[in-house]
Amino acid sequence: MPPAPTPTYFQLAMSPVPSTTKPLPHNPKTPKPLLRLELRDLSLDGVHTFLSCIDATSALQQCIETIFRVLYSPQCHVPTTRSVTLILRSMPGVAYTTGISIDDDHKEIHLSTDYIHGIAKDRKMEEIMGVLQHEMVHCFQFNALGTAPGGLIEGIADFVRLKAGLSPPHWKREGGGDWDAGYQHTAYFLEYLDKVCGEGTVVRCNEMLRHEKYEENKFWKDCCGKSVKQLWAEYNEMLDRGKKKGNGGNRREEKMKKANLLLAEAVRLQQEAAKLITEAQEERDLVENGDGHGVQSKQDETTIAGDKQ
Ligand SMILES: [Zn+2]
Repeated sequence: MPPAPTPTYFQLAMSPVPSTTKPLPHNPKTPKPLLRLELRDLSLDGVHTFLSCIDATSALQQCIETIFRVLYSPQCHVPTTRSVTLILRSMPGVAYTTGISIDDDHKEIHLSTDYIHGIAKDRKMEEIMGVLQHEMVHCFQFNALGTAPGGLIEGIADFVRLKAGLSPPHWKREGGGDWDAGYQHTAYFLEYLDKVCGEGTVVRCNEMLRHEKYEENKFWKDCCGKSVKQLWAEYNEMLDRGKKKGNGGNRREEKMKKANLLLAEAVRLQQEAAKLITEAQEERDLVENGDGHGVQSKQDETTIAGDKQ
């Protein structure tokens, strides 16, 4: 006889407990898609780390709030993303985002538990949130109908991460290479454009990527009034000037260090001289007061003896 199927056992609900936690501040323009968390294997170390560092119930919506603060203005069109599922699983690499093939409005973020497990202990929370922030941007950014350079898309994602205060310590502004090399390389360039071409430049970039195919010359002329090559050259010049200033600063610092050492040495010599003067004065006082008679006699005797020779 085949075993009987497992019946459904219900647990009785407890009487509701009033919530003591305050709801997160919510921007009315910010979408609230359905958010899910999928843990493929609870035994993985990375899963344990994730659950102990991150408040999964609020982290994803928090990332969306940041995106709509940094990358959208009230005049912008809102993407149609309807759900985001964060999937924690063992896999190589860090993370990636994809749309479900039958409906691209449903996104999946795949995050590697192996990567989470390998993050330095004191960086775990910030790094996980940084990666989530980056991937969540991919769920809510425009890409010129798939024609935008990958480096620009990755740069915008890291620009939001940068603005969220989640940049890792190894990130730095650096020129050279191509403007669209992506990630923080492009993110810092976009941050510069936001300063020199006016705040909201990156918001404008994202909005311009909404419905038109990407055409480099037109795109950057419309967005910043110059070609991206020119903007990139100006950014590199600015970085070079900063470097030179930094080198000049180093030279000045060296000189000040040397001067301080000399001053310290001068103070030491002054103290030594003052000590010798005090000793000499004390000896003179002893002699003048007669207490140093023996010394004087000895000196006199020596002098006399010397005279005899
Ligand atoms: Zn990315």
